[in-house]
Amino acid sequence: MSAIPQADIERAIRTTAATVLRNEHYFSDLDGLAGDGDFGTSLATGFRVIDNEWGEIDKSNIGAMLLKISMLVSKHVGGSSGPIWGTGFMKAAMLTRGKEEISLDELAEMLGAAIEGIQARGGAKLGDKTLLDALIPVHETLKGHCAAGDKAAALKDCAGVAEQAIDETRTLVAHRGRASQVGERSANTPDPGIVSIAVILNDWCKEFGIANTPTVAEVVNQPA
Ligand SMILES: [Mg+2]
Repeated sequence: MSAIPQADIERAIRTTAATVLRNEHYFSDLDGLAGDGDFGTSLATGFRVIDNEWGEIDKSNIGAMLLKISMLVSKHVGGSSGPIWGTGFMKAAMLTRGKEEISLDELAEMLGAAIEGIQARGGAKLGDKTLLDALIPVHETLKGHCAAGDKAAALKDCAGVAEQAIDETRTLVAHRGRASQVGERSANTPDPGIVSIAVILNDWCKEFGIANTPTVAEVVNQPA
């Protein structure tokens, strides 16, 4: 079965909020290695509002829900992450207007649109050591699973690819985002945005009962 019901997307968003809140200090500590140390707090400020207002968020369909999430993220997530993450959710919302279920293909299209939106908004490209270095390979992996349509296998592989992205970008120097302002100091530190994507996908695996064993330190060592 490749159909993804709205209930699963709601679970994924609630799980994401829980992940972000649990990792607030951890993500900020990672950001502090080369950046200004605000990443965890910025994300948590926005996702705490989503968590608190969950009952009032319009859930008449996936698009309506994601549009509201995008507005809350844009308004309440601080720093440079608010417009970046908000744009991602908004692009995904535009493709799911009126839908109460999506296919794996549609999920891949949503992620593709989110990536394009984030690139247009922030000007980063692959290799700039931003969360796009996780999202772009995850998108490619997701597309590769569309024909077979196995949701669980797709999520597990996407989580693995995001985790690999932490190690593959660790030694790069950041060219975009706040970490770029410290130049060489960003080499040999993980990008917190990439770590956050890997940790979120790992938690989605747990939430949906998909066996996944992380091996990269930043995912293994996150707070329980
Ligand atoms: Mg920062």
